Amino acid sequence: MTQPTPARARICRDCDGFSVVAITTGLRNRDGSRETVAATCRACNSTGRVRLVVKREVAA
Ligand SMILES: [Zn+2]
Repeated sequence: MTQPTPARARICRDCDGFSVVAITTGLRNRDGSRETVAATCRACNSTGRVRLVVKREVAA
């Protein structure tokens, strides 16, 4: 069944909701697993969501 109203929270356009990702450095740890670094989205401050902005017209 479809949802009649859109969700209130909007997914971040820059990271598409994946606000923190692990990137391999190309190196290996002692146990053989890949060494990773965490990269966070700067656009949404690693929340994965953006606030709804209501546009208002200003009367001149
Ligand atoms: Zn983001």
